[in-house]
Amino acid sequence: MTALAENIEKLQGHLARFQSAGIQNRIGGRDHAGSGVPFTTISPVDKSVICTVARGTADDIDAAAKAARDAFPAWRDMPALERKKILIRVAEGIEARATEIALCECWDTGQAWRFMSKAALRGAENFRYFADQVTSARDGQSLPSATLMNITTRKPIGPVGVITPWNTPFMLSTWKIAPALAAGCTVVHKPAEASPLTARLLVEIAEEAGLPPGVLNTVNGYGEEAGKALTEHPLIRAIAFVGESRTGSMITKQGADTLKRMHLELGGKNPVVVFDDADLDRALDAVIFMIYSINGERCTSSSRLLIQDTIREEFEAKLVARVNNINVGHPLDPATEIGPLISDEHFAKVTSYFDIAKADGATVAAGGVTVGDDGYFVRPTLFTDATNDMRIAREEIFGPVLTSIPFASEAEALAIANDTEYGLTGYVWTNDLTRALRFTDQLEAGMIWVNSENVRHLPTPFGGVKSSGIGRDGGDWSFEFYMEQKHIGFATGQHKISRLGALD
Ligand code: NAD
Repeated sequence: MTALAENIEKLQGHLARFQSAGIQNRIGGRDHAGSGVPFTTISPVDKSVICTVARGTADDIDAAAKAARDAFPAWRDMPALERKKILIRVAEGIEARATEIALCECWDTGQAWRFMSKAALRGAENFRYFADQVTSARDGQSLPSATLMNITTRKPIGPVGVITPWNTPFMLSTWKIAPALAAGCTVVHKPAEASPLTARLLVEIAEEAGLPPGVLNTVNGYGEEAGKALTEHPLIRAIAFVGESRTGSMITKQGADTLKRMHLELGGKNPVVVFDDADLDRALDAVIFMIYSINGERCTSSSRLLIQDTIREEFEAKLVARVNNINVGHPLDPATEIGPLISDEHFAKVTSYFDIAKADGATVAAGGVTVGDDGYFVRPTLFTDATNDMRIAREEIFGPVLTSIPFASEAEALAIANDTEYGLTGYVWTNDLTRALRFTDQLEAGMIWVNSENVRHLPTPFGGVKSSGIGRDGGDWSFEFYMEQKHIGFATGQHKISRLGALD
């Protein structure tokens, strides 16, 4: 049996339960059908219906927010060590079911097995990391004076809403939910409608690990219905959102009436800048990895290649040969490097840029075509002869599509790199240390890697500037978001108090 056939057989075993019962919402530790008419989730691999999904409405969000509110005091007051133990058991549960999670994720999203099998384990790492942080969340910072002890404490903010997108949905959900739970918050999670399977697996694993009912609730449904109701609900104190910049702006408005704290992780049009003094073989590997892995459906992907004109011809020629050699295929085949795009709508969006590029005067140097009729497959694509004012250089395509733009000088590279509404990540390839420091200091991005692809270390801050987001995740930054700072001034002596209306 081939590895692909083996994976398909295993997947069928895991899908059977979804096919017979559909996906229910999970509220207060119980299954709920959802008040709306259920919708279906479709596999991008062959456009087949995977299963029906509960359609949550404002009523279901209300029930989930109340469950989160009711569960909050006990979860907040649970001793940190006990909370830590539960979160570690969640990590163990994810590890135990990592294959099932990865298979479902591949089938639901079209992502290749070779990446998703690692992403599932990364989800466990997110829980393990924040479980370890539970006992060290800052509390009780004290700045004593002779007569007043200043105490700073940090308290979980309350029930929070987590809204996640369809790209690597399991990893991103754990990335938001683990620190929220570690901080002592309860959660209502609204997963993306296009990829609901693994959110269901997560809530099951969490409850099996001992998470009390109502601490994590999952309400499926559409953004403008269930998502909107979550951002507007008065019991929900904060929203952690990952998705498009346009949606981020919308939910900020929706949350204004209830003064929601918002954390927004949004889109990107990230530059990778390759200077002629770089290690060009490593740069080539990284450029290819950072746009064509995970189908290019990745906020941190380097979708704009800024290449120094002295090496442009040779670098682009090597790029074309490698891109043409990338293996597009069934996501469950371990040999596959690129699977199908998530949906009909997204397929139409990504492929529309093939004509847009040509109309704007760019060259389609590789790809620019679809593959077969069964699913949403496209060949990895490279546009050359591009300028930064073309739509292919300005808009987030969110697929395996790279736009190559030449530059002559460091100043020009910096100007092009910063000439974008986005500012999530940047990648710089040079062996000139002074230039690297100067360039990264002026590059407008929340996260930058020098001579490296994106390597994420959990204690470091994650987030973007400009239209790429507001706020930071990672390490203690996550707790800053999910907790309230509180000051208590405690008199330890008798300082002078101004006396108004004194009678003596
Ligand atoms: P999207 O904005 O369309 O949807 C994201 C989520 O928001 C979904 O769950 C959706 O149902 C919900 N939603 C939509 N409208 C809503 C509304 N009015 N109120 C409340 N919720 C609403 O994004 P997508 O297409 O699912 O994901 C792709 C986008 O996510 C890309 O732009 C990508 O760059 C971005 N992304 C960013 C990061 C990051 O860390 N910066 C990470 C991953 C993805």
